[in-house]
Amino acid sequence: MLEKVVIANRGEIALRILRACRELGIRTVAVHSTVDRELKHVRLADETVCIGPPPAAESYLNMPAIISAAEVTDAVAIHPGYGFLSENADFAERVEQSGFIFIGPKPDTIRLMGDKVSAIRAMKAAGVPCVPGSDGPLGDDNEDNLRIAREIGYPVIIKAAGGGGGRGMRVVHGEAALLTTLDLTRSEANAAFGNPTVYMEKYLDHPRHVEIQVLADTHGNAIHLGERDCSMQRRHQKVIEEAPAPGITAQQRRRIGQICVDACRRIGYRGAGTFEFLYQDDEFYFIEMNTRVQVEHPVTELITGVDIVKEQLLIASGQSLGYRQDDIRIHGHAIECRLNAEDPDNFAPSPGTITQYHAPGGPGIRVDSHLYNGYRVPPNYDSMIGKLIAHGENRATTIARMRGALAELVIEGIKTNAPLHRRILGDAGFVAGGADIHYLEKQLLGYLEKQLLGTR
Ligand code: ADP
Repeated sequence: MLEKVVIANRGEIALRILRACRELGIRTVAVHSTVDRELKHVRLADETVCIGPPPAAESYLNMPAIISAAEVTDAVAIHPGYGFLSENADFAERVEQSGFIFIGPKPDTIRLMGDKVSAIRAMKAAGVPCVPGSDGPLGDDNEDNLRIAREIGYPVIIKAAGGGGGRGMRVVHGEAALLTTLDLTRSEANAAFGNPTVYMEKYLDHPRHVEIQVLADTHGNAIHLGERDCSMQRRHQKVIEEAPAPGITAQQRRRIGQICVDACRRIGYRGAGTFEFLYQDDEFYFIEMNTRVQVEHPVTELITGVDIVKEQLLIASGQSLGYRQDDIRIHGHAIECRLNAEDPDNFAPSPGTITQYHAPGGPGIRVDSHLYNGYRVPPNYDSMIGKLIAHGENRATTIARMRGALAELVIEGIKTNAPLHRRILGDAGFVAGGADIHYLEKQLLGYLEKQLLGTR
């Protein structure tokens, strides 16, 4: 077993990793910025190291500082969580070159999957169904690009190979806008991700976002833990996730799950990962792979009983998976609401001091959050302050429990998106299940025209 692990993250996921470490008897090192001394996991960790000032570039993205922290504390491994350096192949490589275990896939795998063009190519070769598209990066030949779009059929979506976090994508509805949009996306991609490479996909008009969770060890064993539906999105970012996905049959789950497991074996995947698909008219289309633990992992944990973060730690210590595919059973339904420190009306960030905090409880309720009374949410990082997760024997019970939890939740001193969640949980379309990725913006926010469609 790993003796000591550096938690190279902050907030709720750092606390989640600390809890998994404690359960396994692993000592923890919390690395933090100067503004994060009062984070809950920093207070609970065995050791702490301040790695820099508040800007993430100088602390949570500061590779030498994080690796030095591992050195001075005699840690053996580094858990990157999600975001920050979790999908940075160079970081994973430097961690391994410095003699530490990177808790995640091999650097080459991260590199392969980090570029969406190479990821799609590798997945196609592994037999994973992909969105009809340009089959590689778009070149400079205008005629060629117009022809590719014509063959795919409008609308198309131009996507940055290096994109992430819902950024670097533009929809094109007709030939007139193609070339200007292509140029625009290219220069935006270059500015945002340091990589001007773009590619083209068919823009699916009513897909759901359905993703498959996988686990693979270093002994050639791989399993899937079923799917999650993350279609409730705003600006291509997930707001609510659930598992299983409404309407997906056991047979569909087995088939697409097996395809992902086979792909893992083929690319020598290691650790926890997620294959993201768009699902439309009963077909799955791969869009990208996330080579890390995801924000929404708890819904899968609740319906399968598998502790994904613990499995990450066990895999990193060289152990074989504790489960075979046949051991994985789905029990009931789970829903997660992402709580953000933001104004529910205009989505502006709302940092500040928490003057009152009461977490909900009761049967089937899990709260993954680092909040406490008096904690100050700093303005420097992502606005997510926690996750409310409900589990029940079926979707209706789970919705009822989540409504109860949202009614119990008290967070004062800052604004949060809890009112938005209360609205969604009461919305007939959400309650019916199976809404597509445009539903939230269309029905609840009326944002469709303004935020999603981009250029016409
Ligand atoms: P990111 O890495 O930024 O999360 P993804 O490729 O995972 O980007 O896409 C994020 C979201 O963008 C998807 O969940 C979906 O809502 C939308 N999207 C991406 N590709 C397409 C497509 N071909 N057609 C329709 N929507 C898409």
